[in-house]
Amino acid sequence: MLRNLADLTIKTKLILSLSFLLVTGFFLTNYLNYRASRHSVRSNIIEHSLPLTRDNIYSEIQTDLLRPIYVSSLMANDTFLKDWAIEGEKNVSQITKYLYEISQKYGFFSTFFVSDQTGNYYHFNGILKRISPRDAHDVWFYDFKKLNQPYDLSVDNNQAADNHLTIFINHRLEDHQGNLLGVTGVGLNMQMVGELLLDYQRRYDRNVYLVDRDGLVKVHKDQDWVDRVNILQREGLNEIAEQVLTVGDEPRFFEYRKDGRTMLLTSRYIPEFKWFLLVEQDESRALAGIRNSFLGNLVFDLAIIVLVLVITIWTINKYQSRLEQLATTDELTQAFNRREFERCFELAVYQSRRKQEAFSVILFDIDNFKGINDQRGHLAGDRILKEVAVIARDCFRKNDLLVRWGGDEFVLLTYGDLHQAQSMAERIRSRVRDLRPDLDGHAAPEAANLVSISCGVAEWVAGETLDQLMTRADRALYLAKSAGRNLTVVLPQGEGAAG
Ligand code: GH3
Ligand code: MG
Repeated sequence: MLRNLADLTIKTKLILSLSFLLVTGFFLTNYLNYRASRHSVRSNIIEHSLPLTRDNIYSEIQTDLLRPIYVSSLMANDTFLKDWAIEGEKNVSQITKYLYEISQKYGFFSTFFVSDQTGNYYHFNGILKRISPRDAHDVWFYDFKKLNQPYDLSVDNNQAADNHLTIFINHRLEDHQGNLLGVTGVGLNMQMVGELLLDYQRRYDRNVYLVDRDGLVKVHKDQDWVDRVNILQREGLNEIAEQVLTVGDEPRFFEYRKDGRTMLLTSRYIPEFKWFLLVEQDESRALAGIRNSFLGNLVFDLAIIVLVLVITIWTINKYQSRLEQLATTDELTQAFNRREFERCFELAVYQSRRKQEAFSVILFDIDNFKGINDQRGHLAGDRILKEVAVIARDCFRKNDLLVRWGGDEFVLLTYGDLHQAQSMAERIRSRVRDLRPDLDGHAAPEAANLVSISCGVAEWVAGETLDQLMTRADRALYLAKSAGRNLTVVLPQGEGAAG
């Protein structure tokens, strides 16, 4: 029992260390792989894909949105427009035709000229209105005048086209002396610009938007953001917004957390618009694939670990019980050997003391076994040894122990007093007597009565050693043999070996 416990501990230790090694090994390998892939994906986003996208979009925006700036500048330098304004804005159909042709030629949503002199707002359909400093819609004109810059961009509702949100490119029109004649330019449908960004977004799978120097969103795929959302007030983004708005000619890279996710952002200033181009990507989404494969690998590895452990435990158990069997039993009769008997004797003494239970030993020996061997051969002798062991096992009770003491001698350790042991010995003796062993393929004739045993029985006396007990049982056996064999002799308690 104690040895079993020790074995169990060794086994448990082995299984624990194996589990530990496998789990840490697999986990570490996976985790390091995951980290390496994570790092490479992350640095790829930061160093390559995000800047590349930003610069691609930047140049596409330049191509798509700079054109209206150039056309506005072209209009502002057009001598026809200048002369027409200087000469008193006489023929409205001329300017209407001019604006119409420009809008058709370049495909703009709107083209306009607002005269500083008359306050007329010319549109490609005619005079739209007369502007007034008191009209909130016209504030842009007076603001732009004050700005005193060649051109500017503003996002506003287009009164000439169902109040659609429009990006206006306003350009100063000056006479030959540099005096302001008015403001000319083109308007771009915001929806169209939003679609442009949506297209970028679809192509590059990133958020793309433009903000002005105050952080106010100016172009976004979602029109509700335009002129309403400010990055200085967006959760997470507000922490880096101020730095984003100080980006100069050198594009920069930022990182912020939002809803537990990491967002990677790059920003570039577009001087022509005085706006910032912001391209951002959800790092968590980009890493989802790697994380999923990491978790998948872990589950797979765990299954392998469980399988390895199950196989190991099964193999150990199998070999352990086989080894235990080899170490404790006699191969021929499957009875226990002396070593196991010594161990069980200790246990029996312990239990007897604890539970005040008696235990006894029956030492029995086959009579004239040499003769059987001589007459019928060694193999026949072996068969008888086996059959006698089967009978003894048949007769004993649960927890009793059959031991091959040596040669044709067996010991039966039985949990019972002398009287009970004697009955058991008699039962065995009688069953052996009835044995008709199959010798040379023929059952022995009934009269032959070939096999018998003699038994010596002794009950353990408190304080007695195994040697002392066995000497007493041996003495009883000796008496049985001397008295003519095929007998059971009980040595009364207290009678010593010599008695
Ligand atoms: P007794 O009645 O006094 O016991 O006479 P006996 O002939 O049985 O004498 P003893 O017990 O001393 O002889 C035991 C014999 O058992 C001697 C040995 O050759 C034989 N023997 C011992 N082990 C084996 C075995 O594994 N197989 C066989 N077939 N014979 C064995
Ligand atoms: Mg014998």
